[in-house]
Amino acid sequence: MSSSLPFNTSTVRGLFTPLPPEQELDDTPGFWAVLQGYSLLVLVESRQAQLPEGSLPADITAEAAPLRIGLWQGKPLRAVSIVAGAILPAGYEALPFQGQDTRLDNTLATIAGRAAQILHWERRSRFCSHCGGELTRITASWGKRCPSCSDVHFPHIHPCIIVLVRRGDELLLIRNAAWNPGRFSLVAGFVDFGESLEECVQREVREEAGIEVENIRYVGSQCWPFPSQQMIGFLADYAGGEVRPDGVEVVEAEWFSEDTLPASPGSKRSISRWIMESYSKSGTSV
Ligand SMILES: [Zn+2]
Repeated sequence: MSSSLPFNTSTVRGLFTPLPPEQELDDTPGFWAVLQGYSLLVLVESRQAQLPEGSLPADITAEAAPLRIGLWQGKPLRAVSIVAGAILPAGYEALPFQGQDTRLDNTLATIAGRAAQILHWERRSRFCSHCGGELTRITASWGKRCPSCSDVHFPHIHPCIIVLVRRGDELLLIRNAAWNPGRFSLVAGFVDFGESLEECVQREVREEAGIEVENIRYVGSQCWPFPSQQMIGFLADYAGGEVRPDGVEVVEAEWFSEDTLPASPGSKRSISRWIMESYSKSGTSV
């Protein structure tokens, strides 16, 4: 089930309770999600990485006031960020939750992703994008209201499709211009104005690989907090045309058979990897 993918809330069911932000910070002790970029500060004194609890060391300097984002194991969980390059106190390590590094377990990666997404929104929602006025929080919500023009603003979560295209036993993979040679992945892209998700799948495959697809089936979705995407996964069948990369965004697009797949790209935690592992075999269907 895609719902149990890392960064989706199901991954931390029973451990984490989401809550809207508190209006005034109380001083109930709790846990900390301290982010340094896309890394999470953890205590590494024990064998298993753990979130810091209680008072943070004085030499951890937060970039902004802490924000309670929920309860972790029944206690308040507060998120803060520290500047890149800040020296960490003894016993702490910053472990990445993006990319190939999997030293953080999926529950801590999921908490870190949620904290990162919220802190990103908080940094980007200080001022009204309509009139420039300073925004205020809507009670018990992550939304903001502009006192000057009355606009309301809710967290910006960007829908992206990602699709595995199959032709018999073959799979379509593309190489983005920004990727090293040999690295391939699934066709993906942001939903555009006026599009259904299926229309977005058709357009992205047409633009990136020059072919037509049919029989588009939803297979699952994943929160992708880098910084704030909603990845919506599909399977599709080849319907016509010759594979032809656009040469700009995509420099290679090829059919691969199951036994000649290139090294699997991206994070082990990504829906891209999950779709590939779940649906690359001919005969797997939804
Ligand atoms: Zn405004």
